[in-house]
Amino acid sequence: MSQINHWQHYFPQLGENQAFEQATQQTQNAINNLFKNADKAYSGLEPALLKEQINAIDFSQSTPLQEVIDNTNELIAKNSILVQHPHTIAHLHTPPLIASVVAEQFIASLNQSMDSWDQAPAATFVEQKMVDWLCETYQLGEHSDGVFTSGGTQSNLMGLLLARDWFAYQQSQHDVQQDGLPDYAQKMRIICSDKSHFTVQKSASLMGLGERSVVLVKTNVQGQIDINELQLTIDALKAQDLLPFAVVAMAGTTDHGAIDDLQAVVDIARNAGCWSHVDGAYGAALQLSTQHKDRLKGIESADSVSVDFHKLFYQTISCGALLIKNKANFNTLLHHADYLNREGDELPNLVDKSIATTKRFDALKMFMTLKAVGEEKLGEFYDYLLALTQQVANKISENQYFELCCTPLLSTVLFRLSPLVKGDLSEIEFNQLHQQLRLTLLTSGEAVIAETKVDGKLVLKFTLLNPCLTLNDFDTLLDKIEHSTKALINKK
Ligand SMILES: *Cc1c(COP(=O)(O)O)cnc(C)c1O
Repeated sequence: MSQINHWQHYFPQLGENQAFEQATQQTQNAINNLFKNADKAYSGLEPALLKEQINAIDFSQSTPLQEVIDNTNELIAKNSILVQHPHTIAHLHTPPLIASVVAEQFIASLNQSMDSWDQAPAATFVEQKMVDWLCETYQLGEHSDGVFTSGGTQSNLMGLLLARDWFAYQQSQHDVQQDGLPDYAQKMRIICSDKSHFTVQKSASLMGLGERSVVLVKTNVQGQIDINELQLTIDALKAQDLLPFAVVAMAGTTDHGAIDDLQAVVDIARNAGCWSHVDGAYGAALQLSTQHKDRLKGIESADSVSVDFHKLFYQTISCGALLIKNKANFNTLLHHADYLNREGDELPNLVDKSIATTKRFDALKMFMTLKAVGEEKLGEFYDYLLALTQQVANKISENQYFELCCTPLLSTVLFRLSPLVKGDLSEIEFNQLHQQLRLTLLTSGEAVIAETKVDGKLVLKFTLLNPCLTLNDFDTLLDKIEHSTKALINKK
């Protein structure tokens, strides 16, 4: 029975492919024009209006894709944060490399799935090659391996999950994969600094250990975990008959950019019979820098490392990896499914070491980046950015309206408005002024800066990621901030 249908124009076709070619070109033209004509970090459209306009889209009647692309450009693209704008400087939210953006076109169109070789033949070997490159770059040794993840959150969860299962096996040959949490699970503890990322707590909760299983160690003035306190904390836990099993070291805290003494943390963890995990979501990129690589010394000894490519590696979202020192530990994730990764398969199936099943071919972005940009150039970006960050901090401390909160360690600048601006505002009013300032800059589209808390005090934050910026961009940014501050004070 032969059937004819008229649905071909909804899908890219092999052979004649007019609809696909037209749609991809139209979309690319729209983006090119948007970038060419953009002058603000954000359109400045009121949040309430934006919400209303998006909610007004009615799905009950379909329109031709051509029109949908035009409308998407007008309503969605033009009201997006432009990560390339010099004054989009809030978060670890990167302007992606051209190599990464074009890799996405391959990734989306080919739509390979990384779970099994028969869904991703070339892609599987690309991901493995990138993992090998990473293990080599971080010098994790001959038994190391890794897997691409959706980012730091998934990498941290996986690292701690493997730590939990490894520990239960060491402790009592208990098999968490088969038998669930051991009867001493309530005594198990994860140790990290009070500046570590909230995903440590989130992981503990997801792993069935609860957020209370995370024990925080205080940090020194540089925001690094206090090494003596770390040892004392482990000793104290053991004295209470508790079971510390994992120590998380930070290679770049999100606000301060502090890098722990990784070698010391890993050594203490190992001596205590704990797994050592390095959260390098922000700072692990420094491994490619000639000037700053030393600061990661000890990372090569860790049991697991989280690396985030959609931050300092300038990849499109999402893209991350978890690396582990001993690949045998991936076994606790292994589950043989008859349809997917049969026992004894000759070809590799990456699902064997992933918590995801269907998975994006993100490794291609790093693959194309390494070939087109190269590790040396990436390293130069970091050296430039870290130097620029110091210059920006100097500018802030020289300006009478601002006060620098601490010397930058990586590429963030934490600052407040100065006592001169505070005048006789109460502490609460002064905090509100900071909040209003950030919101005014955002909703006017002038600048996207961040707000966070340091030692209980509200502060403003720049996160520098874009190596195309120069000091001039910060002159104009600081002028804008100064101008907006004065306008807000005059309104009071
Ligand atoms: C961003 C970040 C994370 C979370 O990573 P995602 O990629 O956002 O999931 C974890 N740790 C640190 C230090 C981070 O900066």
